[in-house]
Amino acid sequence: MTAIFCVKAHKIKLNPTPVQEIYFWRAAGVARFAFNWGLARYNEILDWNREHPETKQQVSGRLLRKRFTAIKPEWVSEVTAWAYIGAFEDLQAAFVMFWKKQLAGSLPPARKPRGDGRPHGWPRFKARNHTTPAFYLSNQIIRFTGHFITFDVKRVGPVNMAEEFRFSNGRILGGRISYSQGRWWLAVQVEIEHEPEHGDGAVGIDLGIKYLAVTSDGQVVDNPKALQQSLRKLRRMQRKLDRQRRANNPANFDEKGRAMRGKEWATSARMKETETKIAKTNARIANLRREIAHQFTTDIIRNNEIIGIEDLNIRGLMANYKLAKAIADAGLYEKRRQLEYKAAQNGAILVPVSRWYPSSKMCNKCGWVNTGLKLWEREWTCGGCGQVNHRDGNAAANLRDEALRILENDNRRRTTLAET
Ligand SMILES: [Zn+2]
Repeated sequence: MTAIFCVKAHKIKLNPTPVQEIYFWRAAGVARFAFNWGLARYNEILDWNREHPETKQQVSGRLLRKRFTAIKPEWVSEVTAWAYIGAFEDLQAAFVMFWKKQLAGSLPPARKPRGDGRPHGWPRFKARNHTTPAFYLSNQIIRFTGHFITFDVKRVGPVNMAEEFRFSNGRILGGRISYSQGRWWLAVQVEIEHEPEHGDGAVGIDLGIKYLAVTSDGQVVDNPKALQQSLRKLRRMQRKLDRQRRANNPANFDEKGRAMRGKEWATSARMKETETKIAKTNARIANLRREIAHQFTTDIIRNNEIIGIEDLNIRGLMANYKLAKAIADAGLYEKRRQLEYKAAQNGAILVPVSRWYPSSKMCNKCGWVNTGLKLWEREWTCGGCGQVNHRDGNAAANLRDEALRILENDNRRRTTLAET
C-alpha cells in the first residue's frame, strides 16, 4: 500500500528573553489589529452587498490584505509581515467556516440574537482581554537549530525552545506563537509521511444518543462514569443558577413562572460564581468527550478496513428541538468527523449508508421490516423469524451489511465498465 501524508501539530514551550517577549506582544497586537480591521471591512462590504445586490463588491482575505498593506500604520512594520498576513488568512478561514456550517446546517441553534445583531457563528472582533494573543509564522521563515527557532533573525534572533523540534523529516506547513497559561508556546504544523494502518474487519456503527456507540460486533460503548458525573454536576449547577436568577429578579417572571421578555436582569456575585463553575464544567465535558471519541475512533480504525455508518442528516435532526440538544450532547458530529479523517489518513473506507435505509426497522437475520417500530422501543421481536433484536445492535449489523453491499456493487460496476 502507498504511504499516506498526514498533518501533525507539534506544540513546544518557548523560553523567550524579556526583549523577545516584547516583540511577541507587539506581533500579537499587530495580528489582532489586522484581524479586527479586516473584519470591520468584511462587515461593511457584506452589509453593502445585502443592500445593493446589483452592485456587489468582491471581498476576500487576500483582497483586504492588499488594501491593508497599502494603508497600514508604520508600527505594523516593526514585526514580521507574516503576523498580519496570517491574520487575514485566519479571517478568511473564519468566514469560510461560517458559510460551510451555514450550508451544512450545523450552526448552533439561535435562541437569543447576538448583541451585535450578527448571526451565531459569525466571526467576532478580537477583544484585548478575551482572546489568546497569537501570531502566525510562515514555513518560509521558520528555521530550527537544536533547541532554537529563528524566524526574524535581525529583530528577534534565535528563540530558545524547551525541547527540540521532533519532526525534522516532515514538511513544515506553518507555525503560530501564542500566549496561554502565563507562557509563550510555539505550535508547528508538519506534514509527515506514514504507512497507513488499519485492520481488515468490516464493522457497522450506530452512533447513538443513549450510548456513545453500538457496533455490529455487539460492543456497546457506554459513556464513561466521569462524563456522566460531570453531566449531572452541570445540570445541578444550571438548576442552581436558575434559582439564583429567580431569587434576584422576582418581578421578571409571570404567574406561571416563565421569564418575561424585555426585562432588565440583575446579577449577583454568587450568580457570577455559579456561572464560572458552569463554564469550567462545560470545558471539562467538552475535553472528556473529545478524548472518549478519540479512543473509540482510533480503536475502530485499528481493527477495520470497512466502516458502515448512517449518513445522518444532522441539519434535519437539529431542527427537531428536543433531539438537537441530545445530538449536540452526544457529540455525533465530532465522532463522525474523527472517523472521516482517521479513515482517510489510514486508508480505511468509511461508507455512509443512506438515512432512508431502514437500518433500525429491518431484522438483520431475515430482512423482515418492523414498520410500527417506535423511537422509544429499545428491543423488539421480529415478526418474520422471532429473533429478539436489540435496537442499536441490530441497526449496526444492518449498516455493516449495507456498507459491504454498496462496496460490492461499486466493484461490480467498475469491473463491468472495464470489460466493455
Ligand atoms: Zn427476523
